[in-house]
Amino acid sequence: MVEKLNPQLSADGEMAVPDVEIITSGGLRIPAHSHILASASPVLEGMIERPQKHRSSQGNIPVPGVPCDAVSVFIQFLYSSKCSEEQMEKYGIHLLALSHVYLVPQLKQRCTRELAGRLTTENVLDVLQLARLCDAPDLYLKCMKMLSCNFKAVEQTEGWKFLQNHDPWLELEILQFIDEAEMRKKRTRRNREEQKMYLQLSEAMECLEHICTEGCTSVGPYDIDPSKNKGPCSKFSTCRGLQLLIKHFAACKKRVNGGCLRCKRMWQLFQLHSSICDKPEECRVPLCRQFKLKVQQNKRGDDARWRLLVRKVISAKTISSLSLPKRKREERPRIAQMKIYLEYMDTCPK
Ligand SMILES: [Zn+2]
Ligand SMILES: [Zn+2]
Ligand SMILES: [Zn+2]
Repeated sequence: MVEKLNPQLSADGEMAVPDVEIITSGGLRIPAHSHILASASPVLEGMIERPQKHRSSQGNIPVPGVPCDAVSVFIQFLYSSKCSEEQMEKYGIHLLALSHVYLVPQLKQRCTRELAGRLTTENVLDVLQLARLCDAPDLYLKCMKMLSCNFKAVEQTEGWKFLQNHDPWLELEILQFIDEAEMRKKRTRRNREEQKMYLQLSEAMECLEHICTEGCTSVGPYDIDPSKNKGPCSKFSTCRGLQLLIKHFAACKKRVNGGCLRCKRMWQLFQLHSSICDKPEECRVPLCRQFKLKVQQNKRGDDARWRLLVRKVISAKTISSLSLPKRKREERPRIAQMKIYLEYMDTCPK
């Protein structure tokens, strides 16, 4: 074994003679130099300096509990700070345990990194338990994430069945983590969808102002000739749908009071505009001033849910213009937005 280790030269150039032996549980004796071991591991240093306290006799250092070859690789690392990929693959788990017990942070870091990169559904539970024992939080988290992403497969392994029978606390810990991860995912998805919806409403508001101020293909203010705009609207994909809705609103016999859903939606869009509009004096959107007046006269119409909706529609625009790079902002697909926001309006307060 000794020839595998780096030759240790003493001050006069002679090869120093090994002065201690590492003894493994398999009975392998590995000759080594006490000053090298002591400088690489404070725990080994203690064992060398105070052998009685550690129940090791003079010159013998027991390293029990792991395969002999893993101990050899460990000692090799203490000498050279190196171990091969192959050794890491074979003994990574043992080396992590040894690096933790003998306080060799450099090796511990390497093991943590390597083990995290080699996680499989078969070994993840073993590595998780070891990460817990060896106080390796990064590795622990990687294992938990791997587990929650591949739980269906892990559930089928012998390891999981064993763990269920022998460590219900860890089972609970894992299930809780998966549960929380699911909740986090759902929450993010819901927030993203909500944000999209408010943004669509905010764009509908812009489109409404565009139609009512400059006019578009078939609807516009009375003093602007809409017929000069040929072809589909170049500004908003929602424009055509919104123009159809305005036309319907103007011509419908049933109206809001008669229970027409399309009219109700249009009514709500006008109301939403009025809640957002900051220039009612010069505004050309129908009903803008009427709604403002109504709110001033009757505070009850201005309920909390509606105020929240208005706030979110306003902030959606700001958030999206801050979070999207300019090109993306322009390329954002606008297909079918009309339909989506119209559906949403159904859930809004009347
Ligand atoms: Zn348009
Ligand atoms: Zn109608
Ligand atoms: Zn207005």
